[in-house]
Amino acid sequence: MPGPVQIVRANESDGIFQLDVAALEKILLQDHVKDMNLVVVSVAGAFRKGKSFLLDFMLRYMYNQHSDTWIGGDHEPLIGFKWRGGCERETTGIQVVNFSTLTCGAFDSQSTIKDSATVFALSTMTSSVQVYNLSHNIQEDDLQHLQLFTEYGRLAMEETESKPFQSLMFLIRDWSSPYEYDYGLKGGQAFLQKRLQVKNCQHEELQNVRKHIDSCFSKISCFLLPHPGLKVATNPKFDGRLKDDFKTQLAELMPVLLAPDQLVEKQIGGSKITCKDLVEYFKVLQRFLSS
Ligand code: GDP
Repeated sequence: MPGPVQIVRANESDGIFQLDVAALEKILLQDHVKDMNLVVVSVAGAFRKGKSFLLDFMLRYMYNQHSDTWIGGDHEPLIGFKWRGGCERETTGIQVVNFSTLTCGAFDSQSTIKDSATVFALSTMTSSVQVYNLSHNIQEDDLQHLQLFTEYGRLAMEETESKPFQSLMFLIRDWSSPYEYDYGLKGGQAFLQKRLQVKNCQHEELQNVRKHIDSCFSKISCFLLPHPGLKVATNPKFDGRLKDDFKTQLAELMPVLLAPDQLVEKQIGGSKITCKDLVEYFKVLQRFLSS
């Protein structure tokens, strides 16, 4: 069974991030993958918001997508990423699943904003799909953070004509207004359009944040996910029992991110890159971001 490998680590005392080159190379320089193009899906956001939990279902989908029962039985323990209730930190930095296509970025609300910006920037620059994991809504703060993180990332990239990053998905957990905007991608798109709308009557700062985000990503989408059920959020021994509407939406979300005909291959400056290229890119970015 796969497990996560930490490739970017935060030093607890000084907050400096360190890339574990050997761990990264062990995954990406394997003979059967090193010269292949790759898809990098990243899930980033504040801690304790269900990222690892979601990544477990991504693994289930990738290993069993040809089966109708990929979500698994109610009593099947989750695999892969470690998730748990409570409020202790688990994931700081970036973890990668050894499946040649999936990575996970995470930032931690306890970290300073600079550390968060570094991890978010790194995960945005190295992924082809960035999932911005949010709770309940898209707040003005969330957009401002995104602007900061992407601005930081853009500094590290060469100026090009094309938009610097590929696909961004706002994933809103615990969406509680399905009567206003329905769960799923369609409701999400309508909600996002409203939220990212630039209006003359808006304060200039609000307009600029929206224009900036639009200028950074080739594609922006949004998915509204229901609450998974109180058993998930409160029971540390929870082993997978989910509310039906959550399961229905998960079954819609996973193919959007991971079905073979939906996969977005990682590009840099408009060209597809290989796993080997990504290792080199990480090394360059690490040098830049730590200088
Ligand atoms: P991470 O730190 O973002 O990786 O968060 P975890 O995946 O470890 O999850 C933290 C807690 O949130 C666990 O108790 C999960 O069962 C719970 N959880 C997972 N998904 C959701 C969700 O969509 N909504 C809510 N309210 N809780 C969730």
